[in-house]
Amino acid sequence: MRTTAASGPHVEALLKILELERSKGYGDVVVVGGLDRYLQNYLKKARDTGGSSSASRICPPDFRYAALAKEQRRQWAEKTRRLLTERPSDKPSSAKKSSARPVPVKQAPPPPPGMTLDSPITAVKGIGPSMASRFAKLGVRTIREMLYFFPRRHMDYGNQRRISELDVGLEQTLVATVWEARQVNLGGRLGTEAIVGDETGNVRAVWFNQPYLAQRFRTNARLVLFGKVGVYKGKKVFESPEWELLESEALPHADMLVPVYPLTEGLYPRSVRRLAKAVVSGWAPRLGDHLPGEVRNRCALMPLSEAIQQAHFPDSSESRNEARRRLAFDELFLIQMGVAARKLEWQETQASAAFRIDDDLLRRFGHGLPFSFTPAQERALKEILTDVSQTRPMSRLLEGDVGSGKTVVATAALMMAAANGCQGVLMAPTEILAEQHFNTISTILSRLGLCEEESGLLLRFPSLPPYPFVMALLTGSLKAGAKRKIQKQAVEGGVHLVIGTHALIQKSVEFRKLGLVVVDEQHRFGVLQRSALRQKGANPHVLVMTATPIPRTLALTLYGDLDLSVIDELPPGRVAIETKWLEPAQRQAAYNFVRRKIGEGRQAFVVCPLIEESESIEAKAAVAEYKRLSEEIFPDLRLGLLHGRMSSADKESVMRSFKDRQLDILVSTPVVEVGIDVPNAVVMLIEGADRFGLSQLHQFRGRVGRGEHKSYCLLLAESPSFEGRERLKIIERTRDGFLLAEEDLWLRGPGEFFGTQQSGLPDLRMARLSDVALLEIARAEAIRLLASDRGLKRPEHRLLAKEVARVWRAGGEAG
Ligand code: ADP
Ligand code: MG
Repeated sequence: MRTTAASGPHVEALLKILELERSKGYGDVVVVGGLDRYLQNYLKKARDTGGSSSASRICPPDFRYAALAKEQRRQWAEKTRRLLTERPSDKPSSAKKSSARPVPVKQAPPPPPGMTLDSPITAVKGIGPSMASRFAKLGVRTIREMLYFFPRRHMDYGNQRRISELDVGLEQTLVATVWEARQVNLGGRLGTEAIVGDETGNVRAVWFNQPYLAQRFRTNARLVLFGKVGVYKGKKVFESPEWELLESEALPHADMLVPVYPLTEGLYPRSVRRLAKAVVSGWAPRLGDHLPGEVRNRCALMPLSEAIQQAHFPDSSESRNEARRRLAFDELFLIQMGVAARKLEWQETQASAAFRIDDDLLRRFGHGLPFSFTPAQERALKEILTDVSQTRPMSRLLEGDVGSGKTVVATAALMMAAANGCQGVLMAPTEILAEQHFNTISTILSRLGLCEEESGLLLRFPSLPPYPFVMALLTGSLKAGAKRKIQKQAVEGGVHLVIGTHALIQKSVEFRKLGLVVVDEQHRFGVLQRSALRQKGANPHVLVMTATPIPRTLALTLYGDLDLSVIDELPPGRVAIETKWLEPAQRQAAYNFVRRKIGEGRQAFVVCPLIEESESIEAKAAVAEYKRLSEEIFPDLRLGLLHGRMSSADKESVMRSFKDRQLDILVSTPVVEVGIDVPNAVVMLIEGADRFGLSQLHQFRGRVGRGEHKSYCLLLAESPSFEGRERLKIIERTRDGFLLAEEDLWLRGPGEFFGTQQSGLPDLRMARLSDVALLEIARAEAIRLLASDRGLKRPEHRLLAKEVARVWRAGGEAG
């Protein structure tokens, strides 16, 4: 057991609060009523339990947290944390441990000849080709990647309990004996259930989607479980805990905190840990630190090699947190270095066309609409028009919830480009979305003036500037002749607005005078693509639209090179989507409901559960669900299937059939962005809803409620954990996407929010969305550094320059 200078639940609680305060940037926002009030209670409790001497060191008389500046708060919090976790020196075992830090830097043996950090891991003793191919599945190919292959978490042997002592809702470690383990059906899917016991009782553990575990857990085996304890039907249960089989009675590890790595088929915890240990202890000390010492000191960051070691095999949870902070800083800082450099770059590039704002046209546009702009739309439009009326190229993100009316705003800006003799493009991620935009915009413009159709894909508006205004839809499915015609008109300037997919427009269209580029559904379009776009000859204004509400941290990260406009209200009079979380027993009722709506002529989506192991397993699960639904539940209805392993042509064709009402139900994996507008779809049924992030659920929900019919979002969850239940309750009652995004911040990490992979950004492994304060520091440091050494030419920045280049190269490939 770990001993601390002070102990008891109040100490644990204070440590948690300090950690939260840190993550919230020391804003004194963690405790309702302020931290000072909490500290008064703390002092009282400490006195009652005999810990008053350390308590009075923590809060001397007249101490007031609220009165401190943020930096002072940080220092106080760090000091307090140390006081609370420091080990008394009279305990021989712990004394040995604490004196072991800082890690004495052993002289590392020179690397074996010919080996570098970029050598394949097969160069490591004990890793053969087959092992290497398993690691490759986890993205680990080189020694460097192994060093950065961080544990998902650490099993805390310091927090070991007996069964009778298990607390609901907390992470705990249990060492117990397996009585029985078997495959069970958990909500329509096979999983594993084990009953384990110790001298104080028995407890159940369940794993979803891992039926093969049942064979590994033999009766009487000793099993370590680590994870949160929940309650199901009144009984305690470990829900998908981390696990490890013990070979003997003894505890398997000298360390209190044992890393738990992501696994894949054929890779087991013990061997991964052993190999990680070998690589980390052999190679981490050889890492040069790319962060300038000055930055490290100013931001109080651990040296890199120590951070890598502590992230894998920490001496204490405190040093693990310090390591995480350093490595998270690195990620954010390297991103900011790239983003800030690009922002400087575009601000200095040659001028864009400055549009004259034609107020008459704007008025006409406004009057032509069947509604008036919301104040938020007005504001966003004004910001955009101010940008485009200047020669400095616009680089703006337009953020607004699904249906908040971004397209209309963008249309006004595109009209303004045309009125100024410039061309505009609108790029969408898929053909269907491009088509959708084409239809929306042509409907809007038809209200302003007569529309002459040259062909379905080329429209002419004689009464709109530049008289006539011509718009075209450019898709891959066009006949070569039609495509060529549009391309020709684009080069000659005969078409003023081209709508199509990102890929197509970027690859195949040249413009005579491109003035404005609008990019929809931004998160598939990274920083690098944006800068590539700007280099495309002319230097157009760029407007990026996204429906994903992005918390500030992420906005600064993903879109740090952009200015931000937010449409934070929906047009009035929208019929709310009814969201309902159903008990497992109501599954049949949910199916009946879907059937009834289809009977009324409507359509439905079914989203399959998130499976984190891999896209191919996820696709398989979706195929199985599709089969089950179409054979057993809805044999008489028309079902379609959509998953990430399908070709994009197949995906498009399924989505099209659904849109054209040739399908009643569209079953899809969550990886597929069902970004289509199907006003006739009124039910969104989400399986395994407890495992999605709130923002993701909100995005799914936004796929319905787009027409005149009342719409419903049904959430199914088999045996949701405590947090899962919390999320479901929140999504049931909250409609505001921004609120949900903020909630998400606290409940889940950025990976969930949306993959950095898709955004063309380097991976965020350590940084969290909630690292606002750390991000602000990283950003400031990046800007400061670039101001003093723009090209990172100084010798002391050589390693850093290399690292920035490496990280951005890797990120670009993914995007
Ligand atoms: P987004 O692109 O943000 O998802 P759209 O621009 O497609 O939203 O708008 C969604 C729907 O709402 C469209 O049918 C549009 O005509 C309508 N709409 C847009 N702005 C308003 C408004 N201010 N009042 C009423 N309806 C609006
Ligand atoms: Mg839209």
